[in-house]
Amino acid sequence: METIKKLFQDEDEDNNAPLPNPLPQPDPQPSTPTPSFVFISITTSICIGCSVCINECNYNVLSLSEEKAEVVDRGACNACGKCEDACPTGAINVYTVIDLEDY
Ligand code: SF4
Ligand code: SF4
Repeated sequence: METIKKLFQDEDEDNNAPLPNPLPQPDPQPSTPTPSFVFISITTSICIGCSVCINECNYNVLSLSEEKAEVVDRGACNACGKCEDACPTGAINVYTVIDLEDY
């Protein structure tokens, strides 16, 4: 009986062991690489001017001109690809070249 009691005591002691100080921290999230070069291709012949890509873009990279999408601020593009994914006709494609020397 004494042995069993001792076992429970030991277990309790383990459960109540002080937390390490400082607490281990989770690994920081890897930062999203910023593309050193972004090329946005719009195939105007199949662009239907629906503005879906423009509405998807959070950075005002795109605009509509004469019922076709156009790039107005390529430098603001972070290559998230949301415009490409959302385009119903596949008229917009985003290409990147990541400068690996930065990492
Ligand atoms: S989502 Fe596609 S079809 Fe619509 S405006 Fe943009 S590029 Fe053109
Ligand atoms: S890739 Fe992202 S940031 Fe660049 S134009 Fe498309 S939606 Fe905008």
